[in-house]
Amino acid sequence: SLEGKRAQPRSRPPFPAVKGAWGRPTLLNNVETLATVPAIINMGGAEYAKLGTEKSPGTRLLTVSGNVKRPGVYEVELGATFRHVIMDLAGGPPDGRKVRVFWPGGSSAPVLPESMLDTTTDMEALAAAKSMGGSGGVIVMDDSHCVVRAAYRLLQFYAHESCGKCTPCRVGGDWAVRMYERILGNDGSQVELDNLRRVSDALQNGRCLCGLGDSAGWVIDSTFRHFYSEYEDHALRHECKVGPHPPGSAARTGSPSPQGGEG
Ligand code: SF4
Repeated sequence: SLEGKRAQPRSRPPFPAVKGAWGRPTLLNNVETLATVPAIINMGGAEYAKLGTEKSPGTRLLTVSGNVKRPGVYEVELGATFRHVIMDLAGGPPDGRKVRVFWPGGSSAPVLPESMLDTTTDMEALAAAKSMGGSGGVIVMDDSHCVVRAAYRLLQFYAHESCGKCTPCRVGGDWAVRMYERILGNDGSQVELDNLRRVSDALQNGRCLCGLGDSAGWVIDSTFRHFYSEYEDHALRHECKVGPHPPGSAARTGSPSPQGGEG
């Protein structure tokens, strides 16, 4: 880490503005925030604040990736719809495909289904939609992909990235991966679905030291909220409406675990 110590989150409070690097008050700024400064200086604060919505003024840099024709970084006024960002600016999904799901603020933001494309990009609208603006990374997945398998891949990522400091994150991420492997391997049942919900609850609402634990829980929670019938297809009926999964797609990838060795 910056201080030469093991890179692990600390308990907060105190927050960095009070006690940060080397125990001193520390100002943290995202590059996106600093990139906004010239525009505010050139336009004047009052003019800049006319952009966007009343509670979320200004613009946002959204990085659109995934199943779109024109992936890239787009600057939009807050309040623009995700339909505009994904379908107009990024060109929408490949021909013949439909948007199935999108992550409005990076993989850490709870997913939203295609039916919520008219959600606007301001923070209040995203909170009302039970998601968040997060990193501004808009990930689009079309209807050729299985949401349950996508959630599994994300849980693999979070389990791998866990620093291991908090028990719910260290243990829960790995448990979730195992549940997904059973479900996607046609070895699932209601037990695995119930266990996934329990793991999801245990990861959220301040039970972990940093946002990684919550984020892992939100993947399960939000895909359950919008796509529970697809989980039931896999776990209870052992079928996937999108189509057969590639052989071995639910197998462990052998990525290293946070504690070393193979996960
Ligand atoms: S939530 Fe996970 S990554 Fe964050 S401090 Fe706890 S164990 Fe580490």
